[in-house]
Amino acid sequence: MSGLYIHIPFCASRCIYCNFYSTTQQMLQQQYVDALCHEMKLRQAELAKDCIHSDHKIKTIYLGGGTPSLLTEKQLSQLFACISKVWSKHLDLQEVTIECNPDDVTTAYAITLKNLPINRVSMGVQTFDDDRLSFLKRRHNREDILHAVQNLRDAGIENISIDLIFGFPEETLEAWQSDLHEAISLNVEHISAYSLTYEEGTPLFHLLKQRKIKAISEETDLVMYDSLIDTLANTGYEHYEISNFARPGYRSIHNSNYWHEIPYMGVGASAHSYNKSTRSWNISDINAYIDSIQNNELPRESEYLDLNTRYDDLVTTALRTCEGINLTDLLKQYGRKYHDYMLHEAQPHLNSGYMQIKNHHLSLTRKGLFTADDIMSDLIYIET
Ligand code: SF4
Repeated sequence: MSGLYIHIPFCASRCIYCNFYSTTQQMLQQQYVDALCHEMKLRQAELAKDCIHSDHKIKTIYLGGGTPSLLTEKQLSQLFACISKVWSKHLDLQEVTIECNPDDVTTAYAITLKNLPINRVSMGVQTFDDDRLSFLKRRHNREDILHAVQNLRDAGIENISIDLIFGFPEETLEAWQSDLHEAISLNVEHISAYSLTYEEGTPLFHLLKQRKIKAISEETDLVMYDSLIDTLANTGYEHYEISNFARPGYRSIHNSNYWHEIPYMGVGASAHSYNKSTRSWNISDINAYIDSIQNNELPRESEYLDLNTRYDDLVTTALRTCEGINLTDLLKQYGRKYHDYMLHEAQPHLNSGYMQIKNHHLSLTRKGLFTADDIMSDLIYIET
């Protein structure tokens, strides 16, 4: 195991585009933090029995949500005290990230974060436009974002990431570029940017179906993505994954491990774990999760990953990165059959300039980034 993911499923309110598992039952926060600590003890006891994994180190911790910044200073301290106690022999930390909502990051909260082992803060900024923030039903406004970044810097946090969304209904290219320039002016180390998606079951999806809003055209969406790549590259950000950009030395280590098949453990309701041969996931119901953990039972299901599934996972993760797929490792770990299959399916895309092979790595070219999903689905393994 290399990464520890801790899911904090609380949100003060629900944003209209979100389909992540989260709850507004904040009165359960303390019981939930107690359950997280208990789950970590159960998981450690389980790992201790497994001599293959017991000597593995935790190099990254990621508190994701939901909204982890709803946790109080006392609850965060409790979590980190528990991590130090339970995993004392396994900690070799390089990166500890917490996701924050900008309006939670007051001067005092930024100092609290700095005083914990946290060294990276990821904020769901989404846009600097107050009308678009209010359309999304986000809690913060533009001023909150500026204050949050300043508070984090004043407290001494040196690694800040922000998430942005583009492609809002009626958004123009100029409006998106204005958001991008505001983001750049914050001088943060890392930027993630995603096109607005209409996930089934969300209020945003219903607005679209009821024709109360109109999605922008695919062409405008692609032009916005194109301008994102150029604008950030011109200001010194490395484009290291389809949606992620970092100043040199500031790529997300935790997320990069997901894209490179490094094992991780997820604790908390709905959290996923992966150990190369199985994938498991905890129940997505906070009450059932707490009950089960209180009864010393891990509330999870798991699936065995056969070679086909692992190959498909590799296609849909490693191809997202600028390095792409290491063909030498592919041959060694998956065998000739999968290696040759991949090269055969990639050939038309290599011929048309959508893919490239450099230093034994197969990756998407700039042109290929725009049709990444189609290319990945062509490379998915189908038994003939
Ligand atoms: S704060 Fe994040 S997790 Fe919570 S509803 Fe909004 S987008 Fe979803």
